[in-house]
Amino acid sequence: MRTLEQLHFSNSYAGLPDTFHTRLRPTPLEGSRLLSFNPAAAALLDLDPAEAQRPEFTRYLSGAAPLPGSEPLAALYAGHQFGHYVPQLGDGRAILLGEVQNSRGERWEMQLKGAGLTPYSRQGDGRAVLRSSIREYLAGEAMHGLGIPTTRALCLFGSDEEVWRETLEKGALLVRLAPSHVRFGSFEVFYYRRQFEPLRRLTDYVIEHHYPQLGDEDDRYLALFREVTARTARLIALWQAVGFAHGVMNTDNMSILGLTLDYGPYAFLDDYDPGLICNHSDYQGRYAFDRQPAVAHWNLSRLGQALLPLLDGTPQAAAERANAVLGEYQEIYARHYHAAMAEKLGLRDTQPGDAALMGELLGLLAADHVDYTGFFRALGRCDSAAEAINVPLRDLFLQRDAYDRWAAAYTARLRAEQSDDAARRQAMDRVNPKYILRNYLAQQAISRAEQGDYDEIGRLLRLLQAPFDEHPDLAAYAAPPPDWGRRLTISCSS
Ligand code: AMP
Ligand code: MG
Repeated sequence: MRTLEQLHFSNSYAGLPDTFHTRLRPTPLEGSRLLSFNPAAAALLDLDPAEAQRPEFTRYLSGAAPLPGSEPLAALYAGHQFGHYVPQLGDGRAILLGEVQNSRGERWEMQLKGAGLTPYSRQGDGRAVLRSSIREYLAGEAMHGLGIPTTRALCLFGSDEEVWRETLEKGALLVRLAPSHVRFGSFEVFYYRRQFEPLRRLTDYVIEHHYPQLGDEDDRYLALFREVTARTARLIALWQAVGFAHGVMNTDNMSILGLTLDYGPYAFLDDYDPGLICNHSDYQGRYAFDRQPAVAHWNLSRLGQALLPLLDGTPQAAAERANAVLGEYQEIYARHYHAAMAEKLGLRDTQPGDAALMGELLGLLAADHVDYTGFFRALGRCDSAAEAINVPLRDLFLQRDAYDRWAAAYTARLRAEQSDDAARRQAMDRVNPKYILRNYLAQQAISRAEQGDYDEIGRLLRLLQAPFDEHPDLAAYAAPPPDWGRRLTISCSS
């Protein structure tokens, strides 16, 4: 266990040339105070959780004093936003402190989100508001608790600093962790500038540090593209299976490591609404829940294009090979999605009618606005000997006859594989969470925090880090939203 001064920094990104980033100091956030600390993330850094009690903790990590060993910088990137290329984005309010190497040999980048102006801030103020910082803090840990690749978060600071959004709000700062924050847009910026040497350097860097197993491949850049395609396909399959809508799948929010990155107006589905548009600025529904698999494919094609100058052979041959890799996406996505859905249904083997069984269920859930998470959790408790599954599941549906037909087919399917109810229930409870970060739960934590009560943040954090457990004292948190909490529109200002 290390103190803050003993963290083992090994800053590889800072070692890249100036083309990739700008070195700078965070701008201290006035009146910073620690609102929540996440011991699970501290463990990734080998950081002693008792360190959170020291006044230096807040000073170092809110940007008031330089953390020994850190080399702060803002990274350059670009990206396609809502389908349009924006030639320069970059960390407009996030500052990378450096990379901490833990005793397991892992490197974790520490990033301060909301740490002040950078050369990439454009019209922004370099700050993040409390509500969006709470949402990102909780979401990263909730996704991790669900077993979905994501950035993590060490802690959350509040402040007295006033920040203007639609109204006056308070600034906050999140300390985010990830092995790397490199995005698809980090490659695009050099591709569109026709700066192919930095493009190659970045790609070599990513391979060396994050995909070392690809270093010896014949065409290692193509191999990288294949690996990122596979990881992204898996990530999106997990999002779709758990019911997560990201809301802003711009290429600058797509991680080169296949992590869920940049939580804005995201939503976990309450009732199953495949067309859900959670970002209230997404007028066309480009990032609707059910469009995510196709959008990820489009984003991957932007990455593939950016890597083309590095691929072996003639431009035409390179493009053909990149396209062939892209062609693998759908199959990989479908494989992961079907496997995840089969697990949710408690099916052990694969049978020809399974896809239809899933499709019919999703159709019913959508038509009758059934709570997605609640349904699957309850399904784990059904009796496979019954011809159909009655109360309480049946009561969730309006179309009782259609539901009865589905339930009869499902229980028959379970009997066909001699499903053991007790074992199946256990297995289903490990993949069907009891708790998810419903928008109304996040909103409750935000409202209380805005009144100066931060306990709810910690309570949700602990609950969502173990979402498959029962937590009898917190069972009310599994409930579908009350009327006020349905279809909350989440502003994308943050
Ligand atoms: P996002 O939509 O949060 O992923 O942000 C898109 C781009 O805008 C990124 O380059 C951000 O760093 C930048 N950005 C967002 N909000 C701010 C802000 N308040 N100040 C400066 N830059 C920002
Ligand atoms: Mg972003």
